[in-house]
Amino acid sequence: PLQTQGTTTARFSSTAVEGATSQVERNENFAKLAGGYLFPEIGRRRNAYVQEHPEMADRIISLGIGDTTQPIPPHILSGLVEGAKKLGTKEGYSGYGAEQGQALLREKIAKVLYNDLIDASEVFVSDGAKCDIMRIQQMFGPKVISAVQDPSYPVYVDTSVMMGQTGNQDTSTMQYDNIVYMRCSPENGFFPDYASMPRADVVYLCSPNNPTGAAATKEQLESMVKLCRERGSILVFDAAYAPFIRSPGVPKSIFEIEGAKDVAIEVNSFSKYAGFTGVRLGWTVVPSGLKFKDGSLVRDDFNRVMTTAFNGASNIVQSGGLACLDEEGQKEISTLIDYYLENAKLLRQTFEEIGFPVHGGTDAPYVFVELPESVGGSWNAFNMILEKAQVVTIPGAGFGPGGEGFLRLSAFAPKDSVIEACKRLKEAFQ
Ligand code: PLP
Repeated sequence: PLQTQGTTTARFSSTAVEGATSQVERNENFAKLAGGYLFPEIGRRRNAYVQEHPEMADRIISLGIGDTTQPIPPHILSGLVEGAKKLGTKEGYSGYGAEQGQALLREKIAKVLYNDLIDASEVFVSDGAKCDIMRIQQMFGPKVISAVQDPSYPVYVDTSVMMGQTGNQDTSTMQYDNIVYMRCSPENGFFPDYASMPRADVVYLCSPNNPTGAAATKEQLESMVKLCRERGSILVFDAAYAPFIRSPGVPKSIFEIEGAKDVAIEVNSFSKYAGFTGVRLGWTVVPSGLKFKDGSLVRDDFNRVMTTAFNGASNIVQSGGLACLDEEGQKEISTLIDYYLENAKLLRQTFEEIGFPVHGGTDAPYVFVELPESVGGSWNAFNMILEKAQVVTIPGAGFGPGGEGFLRLSAFAPKDSVIEACKRLKEAFQ
């Protein structure tokens, strides 16, 4: 039993509670989650390798988890600095902000990034897209059926499991019961064939895609919006990699598609735009006309989540966001993205030379490599590359069963590391 008596020191000292177990039942949904979250697992394997081979520690190059590496450029940085400095002045000081974000930032997002296709009142500023995905799940609750691309960014599935939308994971298929897995493969251009799948309430779609690097065409997105309208599904569109799109005509937002405002929510983030992965700033657009079955507004419920369980993004950070949206900030973002796209090109070329089919890496920071059968699966490839080349990658299987047979490489790395990694990868596969 829990010790409840004694002096304050005794109650809080670790020895006093040793061996104590609470009487609280574990949330059964958490027990359903498979293993650890993918990215810490990659880190764990990397660390285990380093422990076994300490002499290799300095040689390791990470093309794994997809974290940005380049410093924040000067104009954007000055926004963050100014934001902090203001807090030290009487006039500039601010405390709790609007939970939905500063009005000016919401307006600028609507104008600069959406060309006024959406209204500022539909923008909810946040601490990032991953957090918003969980908040969207909290809004939908446990009774909805979610559909995900397979493979996909693991957060859609894992948050569905946490919310209690799913059954257990079937260990033979590696799929959770009650999730619609929409296979994405080279055969369908990595775009899901939702029409041939069972109906879902919420469809998660990411473009440019993590991990496949595929950027959906206008026609593909039009067909998805049409289907969601016909089937009464809500589309959650993850556009975290939108600025990597360089091919003309490829939509950067779902709201470029006619009719999307009736069925879609868009999550987005400054993480990959401006190296804000540690700074933390994102946003979600919930159109004012999007409704639940009972006619109530989705935006009102999302607003409720944001005002109840979130207290607004940091004021310092929002000042950095404003700087991102100045003309100068936009230019800096474009230069940063050019840098990573150049890395992606090198990775693509390397695998083309090795002779493996390569996907992505042109409108996205991820290169998705098709492995030959002889490699023996994506975790094997991951281990082999770590051991032979000291390069950390991510096995496709980590993104869902449909990722088996593929390897994801991230272009978020210093260029000289990418050049060295390419050299070692070629040697490893010789
Ligand atoms: N969405 C996708 C598809 C991602 O790949 C990532 C991060 O890797 C995120 C969202 C998370 O973004 P944030 O850093 O804003 O939480």
